[in-house]
Amino acid sequence: MKYLSTRGDATPRGFSEILLEGLAPDGGLYLPAHYPKVDAATLARWRGLAYADLAFEILSLYIDDVPAADLKRLVSSTYTAQVYGTPEITPLKRLEDGLYLQALSNGPTLAFKDMAMQLLGALFEYELGRRGQTLNILGATSGDTGSAAEYAMRGKRGVKVFMLSPHGRMSPFQQAQMFSLQDPNIHNLAVEGVFDDCQDIVKAVSNDLEFKRRWKIGTVNSINWARLLAQVVYYFAGYFQATASDAERVSFAVPSGNFGNICAGHVARMMGLPIHRLVLATNENNVLDEFFRTGTYRVRGAAETHETSSPSMDISKASNFERFVFDLLGRDTSRTRQLFHDEIGQRGAFTLTAAEFARVAEFGFVSGSSTHADRLATIRDTAQRLGTVVDTHTADGLKVAREHRDPGVPMIVLETALPAKFSATIVEALGREPERPAALAGIEQLPKRFKVMPVDAQAVKDYIAQNG
Ligand SMILES: *Cc1c(COP(=O)(O)O)cnc(C)c1O
Repeated sequence: MKYLSTRGDATPRGFSEILLEGLAPDGGLYLPAHYPKVDAATLARWRGLAYADLAFEILSLYIDDVPAADLKRLVSSTYTAQVYGTPEITPLKRLEDGLYLQALSNGPTLAFKDMAMQLLGALFEYELGRRGQTLNILGATSGDTGSAAEYAMRGKRGVKVFMLSPHGRMSPFQQAQMFSLQDPNIHNLAVEGVFDDCQDIVKAVSNDLEFKRRWKIGTVNSINWARLLAQVVYYFAGYFQATASDAERVSFAVPSGNFGNICAGHVARMMGLPIHRLVLATNENNVLDEFFRTGTYRVRGAAETHETSSPSMDISKASNFERFVFDLLGRDTSRTRQLFHDEIGQRGAFTLTAAEFARVAEFGFVSGSSTHADRLATIRDTAQRLGTVVDTHTADGLKVAREHRDPGVPMIVLETALPAKFSATIVEALGREPERPAALAGIEQLPKRFKVMPVDAQAVKDYIAQNG
């Protein structure tokens, strides 16, 4: 399988070549040259597979430059019951007739980002070892992504992580999760500023091309194709658990921010998985809902981006969205470049033609949004009536899922985090603390390892030069 860029660079690249990369050189995103189609016989055979074996089958269709035995070993050591708590890895829970929750948040940091990031850690260590190279991963986090990256990369050979976070602004639980890591290859840098300051420092360091090359600076952000690919697997796993035969269809509801999770659902559907609808749910930051309702995509500035109680969906620009639009436009690279490079670059918005927008329905997408009040009501209703406590992001998905039910089609809501991560809102909704997995009891009391830094890119560079 070769990979190409959404903006026209068609240099054929293998999976291993794009694994450690971010954007394509022309500013586009990498996608496979085509989506392998899964026929009925294959689907029937996959139905019986354990999660790791299913993951191996799906990944093998997209990765032909890692020997099969090696890929099998990497996948099998990643998706284990020890790490995810159950042999199903992403078990399905019935809420009521035809409505399910699929648990994607039983990994080490209690959020769905572990599903992909854990595999990325294994793949990075493997590929760097094969090349005899090292990598210094630099990132900024306000919580979820940073901890998932650190838990994926801890103890991995050839990789060091330098993670910037706003000093004193993460929740005590999130701080404890990240700062209690004692692995020498993990560096927590607590910046005396806000999240935007952290992001600006990462940009400043990455824009110093000489420093970037010398210190082998890389990232693990959500545009990485390997992360997206790893997420395709759980759509198949959810489908098999919700159906008895491959003649049935299901819909998925996905709490969305950067469009990474639901883009994996789009890929699964393009491969032939019988997905009826992909229901995209946003919070008050409804850039994507607006697009799916109107055909206009308008990115927002910091002033227009709300801080909400489902913070991992507080985005103003969906970094993976270009992948879907590229497919929607029949893979027209010059039109994609026009929309994302010219129009977004110049005016921060584009509007599809009526003919282009009409095709959205063929791809199964529908959408909706949710507010803080909706979130509280959904958490309360789900706890009181159905006996299940859901986190704030999952509540957004559940609220919008209910607006798009079709008779006879099971609806699977992706559970993207455990309620323990967002306890303040759970207390607001239910008047009690959410349960916390036993392994994480009292992590706030563990010794913390972090370094306080001024808002100064040079200080971060100096730190990397000493420790990288
Ligand atoms: C990252 C995240 C999301 C949004 O996922 P995208 O792939 O960015 O659309 C939703 N919920 C939680 C808990 C997350 O951590």
